[in-house]
Amino acid sequence: MSKIIAAAGTRGAHTFVAQAKFRLAGALAKYGPQRPVNFPNTGYYLPVIYGLLGLPIKTLGDMGQVLDKCEALLPPLENDDLGLALEGGRAALFAQEIIEALRYVEQPDFYLTGEEVTPEKIWLGAADDIILRKRGVEFVDGSAPGFAVILGAAPDRQIAADIARELQRKNLYVFMAGQTNGQTFTEQLLEAGVQIGWGTRLVSFGPDTSAAIFAVGFATRAAMSFGGLEPGDSAKILLYNKERVFAFALTFGEVTAEWCATGLGAVNYGFPIIADTAIPEIGQLVTHTTHDRIVQHALDVRGLKVRIHEVPVPVAYGPAFEGERVRGEDIYVEMGGGRSQAVEWTTSTAMNQVEDGKVEVFGPDLTDLQPGSHPPLAILVEVAGRQMQSDFEPILERQIHHLLNYAQGVMHIGQRDIAWIRISKAAVEKGFRLADLGRIIHAKYHADFGNILDKVQVKIYSTADKVQEILARARQAYRMRDDRIEGMTDESTDTFYSCTLCQSFAPNHVCVITPERTGLCGAYSWLDCKASFEINPTGPNQAIPKGATLDPVFGQWSGVNEFIRKASHGNVERYDTYSIMREPMTSCGCFECLSAVAPLCNGIMIVDRDFTGMTPSGMKFTTLAGMVGGGNVTPGFLGHSKYYITSRKFIAAEGGIKRIVWMPKRLKEEIRARFDKRAGELGLPDLWERIADETVGLTEEEILPFLEEKQHPAISMDPIL
Ligand code: SF4
Ligand code: ZN
Repeated sequence: MSKIIAAAGTRGAHTFVAQAKFRLAGALAKYGPQRPVNFPNTGYYLPVIYGLLGLPIKTLGDMGQVLDKCEALLPPLENDDLGLALEGGRAALFAQEIIEALRYVEQPDFYLTGEEVTPEKIWLGAADDIILRKRGVEFVDGSAPGFAVILGAAPDRQIAADIARELQRKNLYVFMAGQTNGQTFTEQLLEAGVQIGWGTRLVSFGPDTSAAIFAVGFATRAAMSFGGLEPGDSAKILLYNKERVFAFALTFGEVTAEWCATGLGAVNYGFPIIADTAIPEIGQLVTHTTHDRIVQHALDVRGLKVRIHEVPVPVAYGPAFEGERVRGEDIYVEMGGGRSQAVEWTTSTAMNQVEDGKVEVFGPDLTDLQPGSHPPLAILVEVAGRQMQSDFEPILERQIHHLLNYAQGVMHIGQRDIAWIRISKAAVEKGFRLADLGRIIHAKYHADFGNILDKVQVKIYSTADKVQEILARARQAYRMRDDRIEGMTDESTDTFYSCTLCQSFAPNHVCVITPERTGLCGAYSWLDCKASFEINPTGPNQAIPKGATLDPVFGQWSGVNEFIRKASHGNVERYDTYSIMREPMTSCGCFECLSAVAPLCNGIMIVDRDFTGMTPSGMKFTTLAGMVGGGNVTPGFLGHSKYYITSRKFIAAEGGIKRIVWMPKRLKEEIRARFDKRAGELGLPDLWERIADETVGLTEEEILPFLEEKQHPAISMDPIL
């Protein structure tokens, strides 16, 4: 039986290779061999080709050699031997990756950037490195057991929605590509009102079969980054996926020769194929079944046991529902978000003050309210534990955001006294009540932080006077927390913390996090790292004893250097914590902002990730990011968080914020309050107004007259170069 599949797969592989050749010839004629090719903001070139062949494809001119390899792999067109057809399947994958990379050259706007789809653009294309880190970690820690690749479209949208929901409930990612009779699974889900995007784990890679390569690329990058495998070590990369990545492919509709080729390519990775049509079966590798059985069948074939979160609420609960939005007509109640006051506060107290598992609601519950109302809300979480410290409170409190978002039909935005919660009509119909918010927090705090806390109780208030009362107490607590970190200086502690979470894709990168310098992604402060280290002493955040101060101005300490050397596997000897020019800290790729020297203006410019336009460095954010990422020391460039800009230690060696000559207007506005405070301390209370933005100019020549007119301090400072 395998002969039929082998023959079809061989034909399909020939088609893909021929197509790739044809398109490459066209692109070469149009753009020339020097034209760079890549998947935006990724560090592994074309990852399947890089992983399996070890070839770093950087330009159109580099692609020819891959197609030569494809030729060598392709069996004769009239082949029905399965072994040879599997080789052809590999050739098909390489050809598909070339086809998709060429699309990025020819139609640069076809695919989205980022995680979420918009009504106009629904195709996500290659996952960038930030998505890979964020999502890849879930594969490693088990919160996502694997992924399903879906080829084609279901017979109707209801079947598509049912299958997607079932896969979501199993916490699996769903990677969608290809079409059946002009229909795509993605569009079926949208028509059925199912929300798609990385946030809901329903990932619309692309409308063509070749877009399935993004799933294979994701798996290949995971093997290299999380498995630490070398590019070119195809045997190990394939085995890693077979053993560690629980993936499988589901095909809908008639299985075409192209799908057979793609499927055989995937079989190389140990990913079995399950069809919904009667195709010849090959052992466990290729099987078929009915729609209602297809998900369970896939799990059985793959031997996958899914751990379901035990949270006692009447709606589906799990990370796949985190990114789901509750909008417009679906909203039953909305709390916070400017319509009413909502506040959430986690505080620790004495053991005898907490009755574990007690959840109380004071005030009207959801069924007492009219649909469309917006009552005030306070969530007070009281925890106690022998290992509990008050420094852990903000970390626990911040969990509330994603813990509540995991519930289907609950949407949570913000934190502290700007929390904003929506609960959908469907959730209320299923029996969801305010107390369920507390039950979720209780169950998940125990599950995730059982080593630091013993008891959790939750009080929920929905009347204005009680909410105001909690609000006042919570605000006092927030102020104390803020003052604590705000008042801390790097000199006031002997211990910094590391973060190596990003080594998954930038293997030599180490963030050193100090009280006055947050991690460059903006997600980790010194206090967060301290708590994380105490909660999980062998985790990604380690304590670094500073040791002897080697250079107080540039920020070098013996203990820190020693740590960096070890943690970077000997690749980075040392770096400056407070400088951009000499040996700045390494950058992984997920920095919120990038600073670059602006030589003509004798200062630096800063651009943040959200600003997509041109900058005075002559490059856009994405181009700059490509130069700076990867865990290298790049003098003249620095990746950092937004918060760090207004730190007293921001490039202190070069003169700090007095060097900033340009920032996007929105970023300027966003950091203004803290910036003005810092500028005031320097005796330059109007410095903010002297900084240029995109409305002043997009080149150094354009902004220089403005800086001169405003007597920007950078102009008269020591030469930065
Ligand atoms: Fe990555 Fe640094 Fe953020 Fe850690 S702190 S996640 S290493 S960018
Ligand atoms: Zn990073």
